[in-house]
Amino acid sequence: METEIITDIHPALVGSLSKAAAAETIINFGPGPTSLPKEVERKIAESFDKPGLTSLALSHRAPEFQEILDHTISTTRRVMEIPDNYEVLFTHGGGHGQFAALPLNLCHNQSDIATYVVNGTWSARGRDEAQKYCCVETIDGSDPDTGKLTTFPELVETDINPESKYIYLCSNETVNGIELHRLPKLPDSRRHIPLVVDASSDFTSKPIDWLGSGVGVLFACASKNIGHPGLTMAVIRKDLLGKDKASPLCPGVFNYTTNSEAGNLWNTPATFNIEVVGFLMDWLEREGGVSANESRSIAKAHALYDVIDNSLGFYGTPIENKSLRSRMNIPFNINGGDEELTNKFLIESWEQGIVGLRTLTPFGVGDYLRASLYNGVTQENVSVLVDFMVRFAEENSSGR
Ligand SMILES: *Cc1c(COP(=O)(O)O)cnc(C)c1O
Repeated sequence: METEIITDIHPALVGSLSKAAAAETIINFGPGPTSLPKEVERKIAESFDKPGLTSLALSHRAPEFQEILDHTISTTRRVMEIPDNYEVLFTHGGGHGQFAALPLNLCHNQSDIATYVVNGTWSARGRDEAQKYCCVETIDGSDPDTGKLTTFPELVETDINPESKYIYLCSNETVNGIELHRLPKLPDSRRHIPLVVDASSDFTSKPIDWLGSGVGVLFACASKNIGHPGLTMAVIRKDLLGKDKASPLCPGVFNYTTNSEAGNLWNTPATFNIEVVGFLMDWLEREGGVSANESRSIAKAHALYDVIDNSLGFYGTPIENKSLRSRMNIPFNINGGDEELTNKFLIESWEQGIVGLRTLTPFGVGDYLRASLYNGVTQENVSVLVDFMVRFAEENSSGR
C-alpha cells in the first residue's frame, strides 16, 4: 500500500477543530461529538473543583451516585414530558448499539417482522444492522427517478405489514438534513404497532407526543444534543418490557427488561456521562424547557436558511420542502459545489474561529458542507456564521 504524506494541506480542509491564531473564540458547528452550552461546560469544570469524589470516581452503587442518577432521570422526565408508563434507560454502545438492541428486544424470533422507513444515511444503517436479527421490510424514501434521499415518504397502510413488531424511523437525518418536526401518526389500522424513533440528533429540540404518536421506543446517543459519547438514552414504553419478550440471544447490556429491573445498574453505567446529561437537562429547564428550546432552534435555523435562500443561488441546500428541512443539521454548498470556492470558504471561516463545517465522515466528503446547530450553538454563534456567509458571497460572486 502506498502512503502519501501531505504536508502542505490547510488544517481546515482536513476537518481540524483547532483555533486559528487569528481567531478570538472558536465556534463549533460540528455534527457531533460537539460542544455543550457554555453554562453546562462550566458546570462540568466546577464539578471537578468541589471537595469529595466526582462521578468519575464514585462507585455506581454508592448513594451519592444513586442521587445523581435519580436527578438526571427525573429532570429528563420533566423536561421531555415523559409519561410514567415509560422507562428511561442509559445504555452503552451508542446509536449503533441501539440499532442492534431494538430488534433483539422487540423481536423474540428471527422470523419476526420489523418495518423500517429509510430516508437517509442513519435509517439505512439502522435497517442494515437490524437485518441480522429479524425480518426487515423497508419503506424506501428515495426518489424513484433520481435515487436521492430528500424527503420523507408518506406512511400508508398498504406499505406497513400489520404483523410488524415495530415501525422504525429516524426523526432527524443528521447527514441528509431531513427532519420530522413532529412525529407522524400511523394509519388507524396500524396504530397498534409501536413506533421506534432514532432521535439521536434532535432530542430535546422539540416536544414529543409520546402517547399520541404511539412511541414504543425512542433513543438518542448523547453526543449530539445532550452530552458526550459513551452514553445512549433509551426511553421504552413499559408494555414492551417483560421476561420473555426479547430474543434469547439479546446480550444483557442491551436487554431493556434486565436493565429496567436492575434500575439502570445491572452493570456499571457511564456514570460521569449520566451526570453531564443531568447538567444539560438542568440547563434546559432553567432556559424554559423544551418548547422554549424549540423556539430557539427554529430561530437559529431560519437565520441560516434565509441566507441560503436569499443568496441568488450562491449557496444551495438539498432539501426543497421547507417543512422537512432540518433545524439541527443544515447542509449547504457553495456555487453549486465549486471545489475551489468551497476550500476558500472553509479556510477563511476556519481562520475566524468557525469550525466543524466539514468533518471527515465514513460517508465521504461530498459537495455539501454542514452547519450543525445543536444545544451548544447560540443564536449569536449563528449570527457570526451568517455574517461571514453574507460577506463571502458578496466578495466571491462577481462574474457569475
Ligand atoms: C450520530 C448518529 C448515530 C450514531 O451514533 P453512534 O453513537 O456513533 O453509534 C445514529 N443515529 C443518528 C441519527 C445520528 O445522528
